[in-house]
This record gives sequence, structure tokens and C-alpha cells, in this order.
Amino acid sequence: MSFKNLGLSEPLLKAIALQGYKNPTPIQEKSIPEVFAGKDVLASAQTGTGKTAGFTLPLLQILSENPVRKRRPIRVLILTPTRELAAQILANLDQYGKFLDVRSTVIFGGVSANPQITALRKGIDILVATPGRLLDLENQRKLSLHEVDHLVLDEADRMLDMGFLRDIKRVLQLLPKDRQNLLFSATFSKEIKALAGSFLHNPVLVEATPENTTVEKIQQKVYRVDKKKKPQLIIQLIKEGNWQQVLVFTRTKYGANKLADKMGKNGITAVPIHGNKSQNARTKALSDFKKGKVRVLVATDIAARGLDIPLLPHVVNFEIPNVPEDYVHRIGRTGRAGESGEAVSLVSIEEVPLLKDIVKLIGFTPKTEEKEGYESTDVVVPKQKQNNNKPKPQGKSRHGNQANRNKRKKYYGNKSRRN
Ligand code: AMP
Repeated sequence: MSFKNLGLSEPLLKAIALQGYKNPTPIQEKSIPEVFAGKDVLASAQTGTGKTAGFTLPLLQILSENPVRKRRPIRVLILTPTRELAAQILANLDQYGKFLDVRSTVIFGGVSANPQITALRKGIDILVATPGRLLDLENQRKLSLHEVDHLVLDEADRMLDMGFLRDIKRVLQLLPKDRQNLLFSATFSKEIKALAGSFLHNPVLVEATPENTTVEKIQQKVYRVDKKKKPQLIIQLIKEGNWQQVLVFTRTKYGANKLADKMGKNGITAVPIHGNKSQNARTKALSDFKKGKVRVLVATDIAARGLDIPLLPHVVNFEIPNVPEDYVHRIGRTGRAGESGEAVSLVSIEEVPLLKDIVKLIGFTPKTEEKEGYESTDVVVPKQKQNNNKPKPQGKSRHGNQANRNKRKKYYGNKSRRN
């Protein structure tokens, strides 16, 4: 199947060729005809499958073929969970729509609203938005959603994870009833199914290549190592392998800062990217990383979600994620669009149960080894019952010793945090 056979117009084919895309990806082959047919679509697709072009290409064409209305009201609304993803979708719209008279803009929080309001005033066909800023500006009557014909919820699962369900419901109430709905999600929890059922009409189900096919393409390796030796090990792996572009995942913002700092001190340029960083800092970090000005981007899961980093050769799980699906999302940053990549996970004894959950999910055990000089020595000592008189174990429990617990409490308070 070629892009031409999918019925895309010349201006789009030209723009696609400029991007260097040869053939549509499976999700594009499946979703583009359904969007053209005006159907509601429920698509199971994660970042890296080419899903963005799966909805932006046909929507651009539909808009370009329908005359611009007076005052250019918003005709397509694309809701996304994160600012980065929103900015990337806009970048894709600009690339694909290069030869069309379709105007797009993006609005998200964390930056001044004024330039966004100015852009909206000029009249916009496609609006990409995060829910909070969208509702904020709608409230202030800076935009109207009365003429939206097509709604896209991108990475709907992540939007629910981030607590946007109420906002999404409020947005739905502001839209005309008669419209096309497209929902993209990497996973289908009960909540996602309930949300989909609440506003999609007879949706066509579209699935990208099953996740494990993508996962199998990526070379995966596990290093068993003591927790305290992880920073030195990752530094050695990067230096030894001469890795030039590495995305590293940590579980916490504090951990991301600390690791980036340590790498810097060891002569490896690294920047952290997480929810405590300003929008400008995040944009700059990503752009420096893409340009090769910094070698390592240390990210938390939520910050990394949706980042478009093509042809990323190395992904490292400095810590194993709590949710096994996040492992698949993380390593999906490498080996994208058919390229091969390498994903390395550093696993300490406390993380072995989490690794087992991942193995269950992906259906195989990644190659596991120990690096010379970094052999794992920690042991798990079963928790002692309270009120017995035996001496306390010297080793660590699965959750770390009391000193570590106190340390964690000091840094994070009692709440466990993500992003
Ligand atoms: P996405 O899943 O939408 O985030 O896209 C992942 C990456 O694949 C992006 O860098 C796109 O530019 C790229 N991409 C999208 N469609 C194609 C295609 N048909 N051929 C090659 N690369 C593509």
C-alpha cells in the first residue's frame, strides 16, 4: 500500500516525500481510510507507530477540501496530555500541511497566554491543546468550540493517568453534538473503555502492530547491579560504548536531577527533563538533545511521554518503572519506524519483582548479565516479625533500610510521586 493509494492529495504526497516517508505504517494504512469515511475511530497505538500522521494527514486533507468559513472557526480540536506532545503534533501539522492553506496553532499552560490569544484571534482551522489551558481560554471567551467538526483525543490513557477526565468531560460539553471523534490510546483500561463508550458512535477499532512485535525488534539487555553502583555503571557504559545520544529514565524528578548532575561531573553532558522544569527549559533541553549538543537526556515517564526523538539509538532504564506498561513505552523510544535500537535496564535486587512483571507482559526474558567490577552483592533479607528478640538483619529489605526510608521521606515527603 502506498500513500497515494490511500487517497492522499498531491500537496500532502509532496510534503510526505519531503519527510522521507516511503510507505505508510500499519496504523496509517488502517486509520486514514476510516477518517476519510467520516467514521469514529478507537485506535490502539502508542508513540512510535506513526499514529500522528494517521490522523493529521486525512484531517488536513478534509479541511483543505472544504472551503474556509468566514472568520476561520476552529474545525479540528486535538487534545493531548502534555505540552511536548502538543508542540510535536503542531510541528507535524506544519510539515505535512506545508503546501496547503490550513492554519494550525497550539495552546498549552506553563507559558504566557498572550501570544496564543493573538494567534487564535487571526482565525485557526486546527487547534492542538492541553485540556487546562483550553478550558481557561474558553472560559475567558478567547476561543469558541461551537464549530468543531472533528475531535481527536491523543494518548487518552495518559490523559486519564494525569487526572484530566473531568476536564475532558467539560470539553466534550462545549462541542457540537454532530462531529467525528477519534480516540488514540496505548492501553485500554476499564476507564478508557468507559470514556470511549460515553462519546464515540459505533467506532471502528483500529490496532497498530501489536506491542510485542515492536518490543521484539528492540535489543534488550538487563544488567544486575547494586543500587548504589548504578550511576558509575551507566557512566561506564556510555563512555565504553561511546554512546552519543542516550535517553535515560529515572523514577523521580529528584533522581533525574541528581543523575544528570553526576554525569556532568564525569564529563558527559546531560540534562534532566521533568515536570518541575519550566516549559522553556524543557523545550531547550529537548532541542539541545536532538541537535546533539547534549549527550544524555534524563527523563521521568510523564515528561518523556510523547517526545518525538527520531532514530534514538539508546534507551536506559536507570530504574525499573512501577507499571510494566511504562517499560514498553520507554523502550518504544528506540527502534522507531522500523529502525533497530538498544534498551538497557539496570536492575537492583529490590527491582527484581518489577522485572518479573515486565517479563510476564512482554513474554520473554531479556538477556541478563553482570558487568565486571559491578557484580551485584546486595541480598534480600526477609522482613523480621515485630516483637521478636532476634537481632535485626544487617542487609536491606526489598524496600530499602530505615536510613534509606528516612532519606526518601526527607526528599519526597510521605506521598509517593510520579512525573
Ligand atoms: P508518532 O508515532 O506519530 O509519534 O511517529 C513516530 C515517528 O515516525 C515520527 O518521527 C514520524 O516522523 C515518523 N513517521 C511517521 N510516519 C512515518 C512513515 N510512514 N514512515 C517513516 N517514518 C514515519
